[in-house]
Amino acid sequence: MMIKTSSNIRDTQGILGKSALYIVATPIGNLNDISLRALDILKTVDVIAVEHIQNSKYLLMTHGISVPLISLHQHNEVEAANKILTLLTEGKRVALITDAGTPAISDPGAILVQQVRAKNFPVIPIPGANAAICALSAAGITNPHFFFYGFLPTKSIARQRELVTFKSQSFPTIFYEAPHRIIECIEDMIEVFGANRILTLARELTKIFETIHVSSLADTLNWLKLDLYQQKGEFVLILSGAEKNDKSQVSEQARDTLRYLLADLPLKQAVKLAATITGENKSTLYQLALRLKQSDQSE
Ligand code: SAM
Repeated sequence: MMIKTSSNIRDTQGILGKSALYIVATPIGNLNDISLRALDILKTVDVIAVEHIQNSKYLLMTHGISVPLISLHQHNEVEAANKILTLLTEGKRVALITDAGTPAISDPGAILVQQVRAKNFPVIPIPGANAAICALSAAGITNPHFFFYGFLPTKSIARQRELVTFKSQSFPTIFYEAPHRIIECIEDMIEVFGANRILTLARELTKIFETIHVSSLADTLNWLKLDLYQQKGEFVLILSGAEKNDKSQVSEQARDTLRYLLADLPLKQAVKLAATITGENKSTLYQLALRLKQSDQSE
């Protein structure tokens, strides 16, 4: 006998003709990584909004799904959301999927969800694959907390400026990165965090050439440079948190003090004064001051 869970009841209500928007997670590589519930929903909705029709066609075909599609991507999300609102007003059930993983996580979807919520239609998440969580689950990181960042800025100076803000964070931080920026991204991490911070590089998750490499930033960079092949594909990077006694870290208070002093004083004087006020290491503050100045000049 099948046990009827509250989620089955909820889906059934939808099938009976109640408008709803389903946010459906799809695989990040292996096409079997999709839930039975997701398949049920995708087979029975009136319309599926897809990020790129070409990229979802194979998944939908493989699972025998032939529902009308409309396109929703980062450049048309507002107009697409209006179309979906009209469909919901007509009593239709609509699903949203993106190219891979969970919609609205470093992907379009949040604007649509906001608008649908504002009109009081139900938004029903259908959970499944997500590259960040998939990588974290296999990283062996014992810290129970983590921070998800997603994509870093594409330019090195802006990327370093962003990375500096995580310097003393004790949680692991999860980034997404494109293959053509993987080397320069790790070089920037070395610049900001030093060569010894541990990085988990998770590449091509759930696909044939899945690789999970855990090592120091410097080792990871060498390993990548020695094997061009490892520079291809899709990447999740998990940067381990700062050690509590890491001498290269400075407190938020020292960072703020230094920023404040740098606004009015020459660099060396600002560093000297910041070291006296905060008790932080002078050469660490000097390195940080150089980076802060560099970031300001690039703005
Ligand atoms: N919404 C997706 C999710 O739930 O993970 C993320 C979409 S984002 C546009 C795509 C990025 O996710 C890729 O550039 C890569 O950093 C990461 N990613 C997606 N699939 C991956 C995979 N199979 N292996 C490693 N990283 C992956």
